[in-house]
Amino acid sequence: PEKLLIIVTPTYNRAFQAYFLNRLGQLLRLVKPPLLWIVVEEKAASFETAEILRKTGVMYRHLVTTVNSSIVKDRGVHQRNAALEHMGHHKLDGIVYFADDDNVYSLELFESLRSISRFGTWPVAMLAASKNKAILEGPVCNGSQVIGWHTNEKSKGLRRFHVDMSGFAFNSTILWDPKRWRCPFPNPIRQLDTVKEGFQETTFIEQVVEDESQMEGTPPSCSRILNWHLHLDARNVVYPGGWLLQKNLDVV
Ligand code: UDP
Repeated sequence: PEKLLIIVTPTYNRAFQAYFLNRLGQLLRLVKPPLLWIVVEEKAASFETAEILRKTGVMYRHLVTTVNSSIVKDRGVHQRNAALEHMGHHKLDGIVYFADDDNVYSLELFESLRSISRFGTWPVAMLAASKNKAILEGPVCNGSQVIGWHTNEKSKGLRRFHVDMSGFAFNSTILWDPKRWRCPFPNPIRQLDTVKEGFQETTFIEQVVEDESQMEGTPPSCSRILNWHLHLDARNVVYPGGWLLQKNLDVV
């Protein structure tokens, strides 16, 4: 049987939410099953999100965390932790991938996730509208062996692993059967909101693997970009307080 893919998406109510969730949902529908989409909202499960999830035709779970990610650097941390707890509690067996709602993913990426045994990583192109350039972040590989890192100059040399949140995936049994995988971290594997900005990924990954020898460059050679991390920063876009309009819009 095919391996289960467990896709974890933190999301919150804002003007672009319906656009992002529809776009990602439609892509996930094209991925060969079995796939479970764990969508985690902040504060409350919104009716609009529930409706979108129902309509995508993807197997999903709609979770909520009441812990507020009010600190900007911790975006999505508590939501991802709620999903990790859920997977541990239900002993879900599959490949876990953190797919933020706003990034762009190729279908090929999801297909390559099933070849991961313990921990897979690949380079991601970071696109920031404000910076006017693309930055590569992730492994340099020789076959599936990780031999170095593409990094952005800001944190060069400080972070142990130069991986984007959307640039790795791992076997969920690590969460509830860590001994089997010789995990270096004794406690439940979680994301922490006390971590310095930019260090969330490496801190998480250090709990899962000891070093590059336990990583798999995915797909081998790591020479293709399979997803793009966008920084569109559309936080201040206003919207009409809900997506279901009660009456027709006046179009002039
Ligand atoms: N997110 C959230 N609440 C927030 C901010 C972000 O749930 O207050 C989610 C967002 O929907 C996305 C993920 O957390 O899936 C990462 O957010 P964002 O892309 O803004 O962070 P960046 O990747 O730019 O650091």
